[in-house]
Amino acid sequence: MSEQDAAVALVPDRACGSCHACCVALLIDTAAFQKHSGVACHHLDSDRRCGIYASRYEACRAFHCGYRQLPWLPETMRPDQAGVLVLPLMTRPDDAPDGKLLPSVVFVILDEASLDSEALTTSVIAAVREEVLIVLSVRGPPGTTSSRIDISEALLLPAMMRNRRGIQRILREAYAHAKAVERPAVVFRNGGERRPRGGGDEQAE
Ligand code: SF4
Ligand code: SF4
Repeated sequence: MSEQDAAVALVPDRACGSCHACCVALLIDTAAFQKHSGVACHHLDSDRRCGIYASRYEACRAFHCGYRQLPWLPETMRPDQAGVLVLPLMTRPDDAPDGKLLPSVVFVILDEASLDSEALTTSVIAAVREEVLIVLSVRGPPGTTSSRIDISEALLLPAMMRNRRGIQRILREAYAHAKAVERPAVVFRNGGERRPRGGGDEQAE
């Protein structure tokens, strides 16, 4: 979705390469453009590249996943290879002191097999070391919302102990729980698609 033209600091020597996971995985609901999560953007061409790259939407220009932004994520976490898309966010947990915003990462599971991968457990251990909250996101069928579960507390001890099996067990349990939740249909807040280069966009998973 993006190249090295961002205002955010990007990890040197990391590029999207042939990945286009965000162009499929994300729910986009901006004034300029809307698409459901888990549905390939209709601008992807037959080579799975953005067919309107030079004039793509502002939301697409601004977006960089965690792999591009977070140096503590392992090199093996490029989303198309890891089966996980990481979204760096600032969140305000209900029990946060003074209602402060805290750094968090959302692990969007693209491939269930990733739950047992070394790449994901290494990322969990690194996130705990970085004192970043961890949220698991499980997509529903196309056209529905995703379920998110904050699993920071459950992962704290196994991550500190580097207990990979324990981490995987918690990830599996959270995934099964999130998957069982009934997801409501997405209602786009914005209207129909307009030409690329609209302003004031925002993007959500
Ligand atoms: S417009 Fe291009 S960059 Fe944006 S989601 Fe579609 S394919 Fe990806
Ligand atoms: S998911 Fe990340 S690495 Fe993949 S295309 Fe999007 S920004 Fe690039």
